[in-house]
Parts: sequence; structure tokens; C-alpha cells
Amino acid sequence: MRQAVKPVEGVSADFVDGLCGIVGPEHVLTDAAAMAGYLTDWTRQFSGGAIAVVRPSATEQVSRIVRLCGSAGVRIVPQGGNTGLAGGGIPSRDVPSIILSLKRMNAIRHFDEAGRTVVADAGVVLEALQTYVEARDLLFPLTFGAKGSCSIGGNLATNAGGSNVVRYGNTRELCLGVEAVLPDGSVFNGLTGLRKDNTGYDLKDLLIGSEGTLGIITAAVFKLFPKPLTRVTAFLSMASVEAAIRTLNRIQDRTGQSVEAFEYIPQPVLSAVEKAFPDLKSPLEGPVETGVLLEVGSSRVSDARTDDAGSTYLATELLAVLEELMETGDIVDAAIATSEQQRLVLWRMRESVLEAIMEYGASYHFDISLPLANISWFLQEMDAMAAELGFETLTIGHLGDGNLHYALVCADQDRWQTLPLDQAKTKAFELLTRLNGSFSAEHGIGQSKLDVMRMLKEPAQLDAMRAIKRALDPEGIMNPGRLVPGVE
Ligand SMILES: Cc1cc2nc3c(=O)[nH]c(=O)nc-3n(C[C@H](O)[C@H](O)[C@H](O)COP(=O)(O)OP(=O)(O)OC[C@H]3O[C@@H](n4cnc5c(N)ncnc54)[C@H](O)[C@@H]3O)c2cc1C
Repeated sequence: MRQAVKPVEGVSADFVDGLCGIVGPEHVLTDAAAMAGYLTDWTRQFSGGAIAVVRPSATEQVSRIVRLCGSAGVRIVPQGGNTGLAGGGIPSRDVPSIILSLKRMNAIRHFDEAGRTVVADAGVVLEALQTYVEARDLLFPLTFGAKGSCSIGGNLATNAGGSNVVRYGNTRELCLGVEAVLPDGSVFNGLTGLRKDNTGYDLKDLLIGSEGTLGIITAAVFKLFPKPLTRVTAFLSMASVEAAIRTLNRIQDRTGQSVEAFEYIPQPVLSAVEKAFPDLKSPLEGPVETGVLLEVGSSRVSDARTDDAGSTYLATELLAVLEELMETGDIVDAAIATSEQQRLVLWRMRESVLEAIMEYGASYHFDISLPLANISWFLQEMDAMAAELGFETLTIGHLGDGNLHYALVCADQDRWQTLPLDQAKTKAFELLTRLNGSFSAEHGIGQSKLDVMRMLKEPAQLDAMRAIKRALDPEGIMNPGRLVPGVE
């Protein structure tokens, strides 16, 4: 039974009844306990308020909700799995808003065997899509630690990246089209799955990465890939970041560009993971200077053929490269997973890193990208600066695509309060700008990086974004105050 809703200033008393009429009263949550999980983000850094959480089951319902909100002056914050790390899916308390949860829209609509595409509702959980596709002997390569709870709608809205971008690109590159409800309630149907369609501005590309500010993505069509027949997964200790990048390129050259993941995990992060999850230990003995989780994969039958010793051609080729690089000193030590179970442990170690850092103490996280040639330079200057200001650091990264997750940390919460975080941020962004980096690589802007967006994004680009926002959402009902600074 729905509880009585407190009247919200400026919002008609019939509004919630209208929502119930569209989705059914059991799918309109209004009491605080039921809404709590939707109103605080994964990091527990952001919390907000809403008139209701509304859970439609079909695009046509989303369209009616948007029209109703438009006429009532209520703002809409779309939400998928609520695993976003920029606070974009949490509404402000000071604006009358609803959360539109896509969780019930979780059907796989269509699998096209000939075209190797899949059409899925926005609320489908990433891991469920991976599993569905794998059962058809294909691969949907997007993957990262939150795969068990994030949704493909959220992945599109944030243009998520993850561990396999080095080979397959980010979510934008995997998507062939979207269906979306625009801020006036109209439905944009772009689910043809065509690989060529030059018929004007690409609305799909505007919606991808728009973090719910231009419309609600209700479904999408994705490209699928051959499933690797063989994989080799290894944990490497390298002499330096430069050595790691040389190693990446050498392996790419020798294995026909088959690097699927190249993840940076240095010793302090390994130690933090071991502390938080004692069963997850480094596979190498002794400290690791520059640790990398490497995975190569191939769907070529010739790469999957085994020799008399049971080693695949791909593994033999990789081992040869690793041995050469050990001789040059670029690689210090290596552990190769010899079973699927060992491979999964290595991945669990990688995917537990964020939780381990959160448990370590207080932290501030940069999600940045740099040209590969400048990464070592950035790390050296940034580490020195952070130490000088009294911070510890825990840095990981999707090194293969130039993305670092650089965290300033302090195990002691009280001491953290005394550290000059603003000064460290200013210096970090100056350094990043000097080295041609981006201040937001894959997590988006949401509410956490609006100040940086205002400060660092080129004025011409910001003006264009504001013009697009006003043109598509003149009443400003879609996720206000997020992503684009200076538009209400
Ligand atoms: C442990 C962990 C590891 C992570 N690792 C990575 C990583 O490696 N790479 C990476 O890119 N991200 C990573 N993330 C961040 C996060 O998982 C991604 O941003 C993910 O894409 C968010 O999906 P979601 O469904 O949870 O979106 P939500 O958090 O629900 O929403 C995120 C944003 O998208 C909007 N939105 C959601 N659904 C829709 C929709 N259907 N239409 C329009 N707008 C919508 C929301 O309004 C919000 O602005 C990680 C998060 C965690 C907790």
C-alpha cells in the first residue's frame, strides 16, 4: 500500500496519482525507506531527495511519464544500476524531481545472428547481457567491476569504458543505435542496427555520454564480436611505466593486436587489496614496481591450436615475447594463469581495487586520461607533489588506453581533514592540462566534476553544449544541474 505523499510546493496533488495511473501504484515508491537505496550513490558521497521513484516497464510508459512531468514542472533523473561514480543519478533536494528507474525494463528484445547484433532494454544488467551473448558463442566485450549491477542504459549514458577498451573501444564504439524518450515525451527510434546511416546529425552520439540530460535511453542495439577461442592471462612486474608501454606495443605487434586488457596495478594497490581481501594475493613473490594484468585473446583457430606440450600457439608466441623482454630488463617477473580458476582470481583482484581503496581510508579520485607517452611523466610529477602535500596515493589504470584512476588517500580520517585537497586538485589539473590530458576519462561529469568542467573545458565547447541542451530540453526537465554547468 502506498503511503500518503507530502505535498511538494508547486506540484499538483494529482501528480503522484498520475504516475500510479501510468505504471501501477506498486511501481511508484514514495516512502523514505523504499526510496533510500535510490537516493544515495555507491560512493556514499552524494545523497538527494525525490517526490517518488517511478519504475516503468515499457517505453510507452516512459513517454507518458515524461509528458506528465513536463506539464507538472517536475524534473526527471534517470537511473540504472546506481553504480555511477560522479553523482549524476542522484537528484538534488532543492528541485522537485522523480527518479525514473529503468530496472524493470530488462528484456533482451532481439538477437540478430546474421548481423551479429543484439537489441536490449536499457535496464538490462551488463553481466546479464554478457552471459546472454556468450551462450550464443559471441562476445559483448564491455566489462568492469560493477558489471553485476550496472545497466546498459547507464553504460551508454556515461559512455563507460572499463578493461577492454584497448581492443574494442568504449560503449560508444560498441553501440549501433538507441531508442530514447526525448524531453518532450516523443520517442526516437534508432534501433535499425545499420552500420552505415549518414542521414544528418547523429542523435545516438549526442545521447551517449549525455548522463541523462538530453533524454532517457530506453533500449540500444550493440555490435557483437567473435568469442576468443583462446586467452592467455598474466600478471607482470615491469621495470617502469615506460617499460610497460614498450611491452604493450611489442605484444600487440607480435600477436596481431590481440591485447584485450592491460591494467596497471602497482604494489601499494596490491597491498591495499590484500589488506581488504586477504584471499587475494599477488601471484608474484616480492614487491612489484609496475604491475600489469595482461590478457590476450584470439578467435583464430590457428592461435588456439596446441603443441605437444599442450601450449596454444598464442601462449607460445606470448611467452617468446615475454622472455625477450625479460632479457632486455623491461619485464622483471611474470606469472601466467594456468587455469580458468587462476585467471578469474587475477580478475577478481583487479575488480576489487575500488572497494579496497574505499576501505583504506578517506580518498579523492581522479579519473583522467593522457597520451601514453606522457603517463610516466604525469605519475612522477604527481606522486612527488602529492607526497610533498602530505597525501598517500593509490593509482590504478586501464593503462592500455591511457586512463588512470589516481586516488589521493589517507588512512587517518582526522588527518585527511587537515590536508590541502584543493591545492592538490589545482596542481593536478594544471599538470594534466600541460600534458594534454582529459580530466574525465570514463566516469563522466555528473555533479562531482562540474567545477572542473567550468574551469577547464574550452569555452566554445561549453557554449555548444549549452545550446544543444537548451534546444532539446528548453524547459530543463532532464537531470538538471548535471554535466553542463550554467544551464538551469
Ligand atoms: C566497483 C565499480 C567499478 C567501476 N568501474 C568502472 C570502469 O572501469 N569504467 C567505467 O566507465 N565505469 C566504471 N564504474 C562506474 C559505473 O559503473 C559506470 O558509470 C556505469 O556505466 C553506470 O551504470 P549504471 O546503470 O549504474 O548508471 P547510474 O549510476 O544509474 O547512472 C549514471 C548516469 O547515467 C544516467 N542514466 C542512467 N540510466 C540512463 C538511461 N537509461 N538513460 C539516460 N540516462 C541514464 C544517470 O542519470 C546518471 O547521470 C565503476 C563503478 C563501480 C561501483
